[in-house]
Amino acid sequence: MPRVLVVEDDPDIARIVALLLARSNYQVERAGDGRSGLRAVFESKPDLVVLDIGLPGMDGLDALERIRDLSDVPVLLLSARDQESDKIRGLRAGADDYLTKPFTNGELVARVEALLRRARPAQWAERVYDDGTLRIDPMARLVHVDEREVSLTPIEFRLLNTLTRNAGVTLSSRKLLAEAWEDPTGIGADRVKFTVLRLRRKLGWDDSASSPIESVRGVGYRYRPPAQSRHRVQSGTTGHAER
Ligand code: CA
Repeated sequence: MPRVLVVEDDPDIARIVALLLARSNYQVERAGDGRSGLRAVFESKPDLVVLDIGLPGMDGLDALERIRDLSDVPVLLLSARDQESDKIRGLRAGADDYLTKPFTNGELVARVEALLRRARPAQWAERVYDDGTLRIDPMARLVHVDEREVSLTPIEFRLLNTLTRNAGVTLSSRKLLAEAWEDPTGIGADRVKFTVLRLRRKLGWDDSASSPIESVRGVGYRYRPPAQSRHRVQSGTTGHAER
């Protein structure tokens, strides 16, 4: 049974969210402020965190930054309608998705399910990608850039996989949402933008002029394997070179 931590100070919302998730067969733990939420993340190691932005004491965004210092647990942010800029800050700080209050019961459960599904391996699950600079081992869930290990959240991991498995091809934000987020609606291209920014920063590819993850203006994003690299994709199970 997946374990979800709900960090929300409003007792009514917290109770409803906990009830809905429990009914959908999640084991739910609750925290009423940022500091106890943070403690619960490290002590209980939940599979997913639902994190309200407006919390007393340490707010949700500060808590998120501290969570991200040490953990790649999927985080779904809850924001009020007047907190649009906080939402952007949240995505930049490493939230995987957000929901704006008020949301419907169905929306909440669907987002939680989608986030947990993404945390599991997909079709490319067994193939190692290695172009000499970047190496992705999906089975071990390890990413290395020039031998340096990089820690990615599930969504960053999926986004990087989608880009590299389509190396050289420009993918629209809509396509990336469908492939990496498994969100066929394609709404919310800012989710892609900020995840790309985070991914570049983590990989040490911030310089947009030379980054192997290129922005193609008005179209989307493209992974261009670094020039000096040997582009090869091999099967993790059989060792056959596929390309
Ligand atoms: Ca609140």
